[in-house]
Amino acid sequence: MEEPISNMKRKLFALLVLLALFAAAAAAGAETLPPEVPGETAGEPGSGEPAAAEGDETLPLATPTDLCAHEHTRTVRYFDSPMYTPLNAEYHIVSGTALEEVLCLDCGESLSAEKVSYVEEIHPHLNRKGRCVFCGREEEAPEIPAEAQEVVLLLAGAEDQPDRFVCTLTEMDLADAGDILVLRPEGRDAALVLQAEPFRKEIRSTGGTLTAEINSEQGLAVNASVRLYDADGRETEPDKRNISLRIYGEESKKPLAVTYNPPAGEGKPTEQQASWVPGSGEKEGYWQAAWQGSGEYRYGAEGRK
Ligand SMILES: [Zn+2]
Ligand SMILES: [Zn+2]
Repeated sequence: MEEPISNMKRKLFALLVLLALFAAAAAAGAETLPPEVPGETAGEPGSGEPAAAEGDETLPLATPTDLCAHEHTRTVRYFDSPMYTPLNAEYHIVSGTALEEVLCLDCGESLSAEKVSYVEEIHPHLNRKGRCVFCGREEEAPEIPAEAQEVVLLLAGAEDQPDRFVCTLTEMDLADAGDILVLRPEGRDAALVLQAEPFRKEIRSTGGTLTAEINSEQGLAVNASVRLYDADGRETEPDKRNISLRIYGEESKKPLAVTYNPPAGEGKPTEQQASWVPGSGEKEGYWQAAWQGSGEYRYGAEGRK
């Protein structure tokens, strides 16, 4: 954080005063009697030392917080047992009694703390699995416009691991992603599809990031993961409804069976029938499979029976 000049000058001045005091004390040296007994000092005959008078003032030693002018403060509220009331699709109201503490942002000192009987704050919902964990408001079902704007991001593999495709998305990336963001490893038939708006909202409310990873085995399987992290790096569960998989190719007479193999120890494999979405104009047709979680989705060999 940048410190204002005036504040720095004040600190510098205080430091100089301190140094001067130390210097004076050192100069006075052993000749000066303890300042606790000023009567004796003043009466010392023949010394002619006027410096001793300085010792009469007992100055407390300055601490770092004394040097701070507490110019930048922040009020933090700690609610006792708050009420959460839904306000609208994006926010809820937090209300109740709270401890209001004023903290100095420069030195960290607590400048005041007092109990307030009623206070309100407006916070964004924290949606997990379709509802806010605080106020319980059900998340509005993600709307997919009829003419959804789709942005395809072709992912390039890492130089040392050409089959591994990873991307980390920020709120800004998702703001530029239209309605639907298609993450497709370049030259592969599988793609990971994210609904941009719900993920953008989630990231905005937590200040975190989203990491998507795809390991594509062309024509056989795709190993995919979507991981959401909050600002502290803690992983949170993404809403499955906002993720899907696409397998580009040709329509067959039979629906395409996709087997989901969760990571070891996280449940049993499940099979689903992917539905065919025909292409139009320049757009390729694809099989669409529901997202069941991070793991392997096998659609080749046994999938195309
Ligand atoms: Zn301060
Ligand atoms: Zn809420």
